[in-house]
Amino acid sequence: MSEAKMPTLDEISALAKRRGFVFPTSEIYGGLTSSYDYGPMGSELLKNIKDLWWKNFITLRSDMVGIDSQIMLHPQTWVASGHVGSFADPMVEDLITHKRFRADHLIEAFIEGKSEFSQLVVEDLTIDEMASFLSDNKVKSPDGNPLSEPKAFNLLFETQIGSVAGEKAKVYLRGETAQGIFSNFKQVLNSTRLQLPFGIGQVGKSFRNEITTGQFIFRTLEFEQGEIEYFFNPNQSNWEELFEKWQDDMMSFLTDTLGFKSENLRWRRHTDKERSFYSKDTYDIDFNFPFGWKELWGLAYRTDYDLKQHIQHSGEALDYTDPHTGEKIVPHVIEPAVGINRLVLAALINAYWFDEANNRTVLRLNPRLAPYKAAIFPLLKNKPELVAKAKEVFDKLAKKYAVTWDDRGNIGKRYLYQDEIGTPFCLTIDFESLEDEAVTVRNRDTTTQERIKIADLESYLANVLN
Ligand code: ATP
Repeated sequence: MSEAKMPTLDEISALAKRRGFVFPTSEIYGGLTSSYDYGPMGSELLKNIKDLWWKNFITLRSDMVGIDSQIMLHPQTWVASGHVGSFADPMVEDLITHKRFRADHLIEAFIEGKSEFSQLVVEDLTIDEMASFLSDNKVKSPDGNPLSEPKAFNLLFETQIGSVAGEKAKVYLRGETAQGIFSNFKQVLNSTRLQLPFGIGQVGKSFRNEITTGQFIFRTLEFEQGEIEYFFNPNQSNWEELFEKWQDDMMSFLTDTLGFKSENLRWRRHTDKERSFYSKDTYDIDFNFPFGWKELWGLAYRTDYDLKQHIQHSGEALDYTDPHTGEKIVPHVIEPAVGINRLVLAALINAYWFDEANNRTVLRLNPRLAPYKAAIFPLLKNKPELVAKAKEVFDKLAKKYAVTWDDRGNIGKRYLYQDEIGTPFCLTIDFESLEDEAVTVRNRDTTTQERIKIADLESYLANVLN
């Protein structure tokens, strides 16, 4: 099998559109900036990733529970969390076209390949340092025009509640799912029999008024996050040990559960200047995207900062009393936070393969991720006995697995289509099937074929999917 070459973002987005993974939002009206919809294949892939995240980090663990909080929370939440005050990106404006850009991204592009700036860590720059850099180096906009001074641009989306008047009506669309976890901490504690250390996870939509556009589903205004707050008593648990355990769990989810190649993944530690002031240590897992190594998943030791902020702003006692020692503490947290849509993009990039020997594009998705686990083909659609037998196979498998049906065109074309959407197995029901109660199973990656009894198909698929 030939090795996979890194696809371009254009190849990925073209395949994603052609085969129903990802469509530009509201395309009939010209699209909406940095917004994408998930089509028939994409919604299955997205759901498979979310379900695997939930199963791996919540269902299979006795120390984890899940919640599902609102997108709009009490606005004080975001004052307490610091988002109203400082959840901002450094923005500059092209003084001619009025297009807006992230100042840090323009500086990164400017220093790329210039040895004199090889020591510069852009993440460490303050907004004033960015301003000096842009003016000292006469950095222009991508259209070659002068730029404004950078200023902090808050990423929270605001909206209003109609039934309440005045300032009180202002609410925010959540900028992260984590704050819904902190604000429910006490209720989870009181309603369950959990003891520290334990974690609360949530998967759902977050919203950020991002300045940077044109990064496909890597950076969108609306996206899904899978976030965990892992609470512990720092006097009883060693944070370094917990942190390392989380690093292992995150990496093995990517490589073993999702099937990502480890050479496309690496850890990056935040520098002291880059790290938030309340965090003791922060690492990102970066993925090798076609546009460079970029953050996929963050892991931060946030101490007791968030709960203390909510204690201060709400006046509620969000502490924990140890049932054995009676010790009262505000728990500390370790936060693994991933973007589900970035996982979708990484899954597509990781799986994309042009098979030169057979002149076909294949999505070699791990079968767990594949939108359909098997495609069922009656050899000919005008032979009722074949269609009936194929339908029998479809109905039997559909009870357990996401399967699809195709009776259009010749078998070769049907294979090519299924290869592009990543279906691991194609099952053809032919005249012999009526005699021997078996089907031809064709393997997506090797194109080899074998005959399997219909009665054995379920266990055949179960073997690959577990
Ligand atoms: P970035 O530096 O790329 O803007 P971030 O450091 O602001 O990301 P976090 O606040 O740590 O991101 O959010 C956790 C995860 O949510 C990120 O690792 C990423 O996978 C995802 N994420 C953040 N912003 C977006 C976005 N606009 N679109 C899609 N995913 C996002």
